[in-house]
Amino acid sequence: MDQVLAAVDIGGTKITVSLINGHGFLAKIRQLTRKTGENKVVPQQILQLLDQACQTARINRKEIKEIGISACGPFAKTSHGFVLKAANLCGGLAKEKKDIPNDWTEIPLEQELKPLFSRLELVNDAISSAVAEKHFGSGKNVDNFVYVTWSTGIGAGAYVDGHLVEGKNKNGTHLGHTFITTSFAGLPQCGCGDYGHVESLVAGPAIARDFGASTAEVFEKYRQGDVKAKQVIENATHILTLGLVNITCILDSELIIMGGSVTKNWDIVYPLIKKTFYTSFPPLTQGVGIIRSELADYIGDLAALSLIMPVAWIKGWQQHRPWENAPITINLDE
Ligand SMILES: [Zn+2]
Repeated sequence: MDQVLAAVDIGGTKITVSLINGHGFLAKIRQLTRKTGENKVVPQQILQLLDQACQTARINRKEIKEIGISACGPFAKTSHGFVLKAANLCGGLAKEKKDIPNDWTEIPLEQELKPLFSRLELVNDAISSAVAEKHFGSGKNVDNFVYVTWSTGIGAGAYVDGHLVEGKNKNGTHLGHTFITTSFAGLPQCGCGDYGHVESLVAGPAIARDFGASTAEVFEKYRQGDVKAKQVIENATHILTLGLVNITCILDSELIIMGGSVTKNWDIVYPLIKKTFYTSFPPLTQGVGIIRSELADYIGDLAALSLIMPVAWIKGWQQHRPWENAPITINLDE
């Protein structure tokens, strides 16, 4: 129980490093993700944050033998290990010049970090969120479920017949970059460079773009009865739901667990999702549960650590739910 593990969440905006033991969180540190300099900057930043977290928790960094990393993805397997090829971090990946201040085409996470630990687990953050749901959330006793995040991006992670779906490069169930239409004329470009992807049409930034205000403001307007807000949200929710139907048809899931900032408006989106989902080919959609994650506010913290948590700790964590009273995150940018 006294062993200390490190969990890292790499987002397009922020990196969070947490230290945990069998009882709960020892430290949580967050900083804006660095995007300038060499492509090793991100793993170096992780190590610096880890050092700071260890200082806060008053432990020696050498005691940390296992590290779980959850990142926005996608990943690729190379001769120098798994690399992160995220279009929101690597400026060199965008098909058209974007506002990312570097020309990276990959971030060498495994090469830089693996030699320092005896165990490193690295997966897409939606897949690790599915693991968190399996350990601590609504996926606990469910063999076939999908976790879907609806936020700045669209991601999914799934269990099929009790097994986590990872795929050859741990990019399995990448719902955000699946095509949802065959006519691309006039469509906005996806962050990945393609057209017609689910993410480019329904993620938070797409809702904001289609209305011309922040996503939160669009929902606010919806609540005030604004006709355009209603149209934008109904359209985005309809397209996302078609994506949910697609993934259900492919995996034959029994439950869809949804997280991400857009689902904070569950009272608005759920009735819309229901309407489209259950009228789509009922033999495949009937009886499939669609719920909002009960871990939604904590999933970022739980996802990466779920990858490395020893089985012996899980019961205690389920009982005491230490994520609900984790120490306040130290934000280095404030
Ligand atoms: Zn895409």
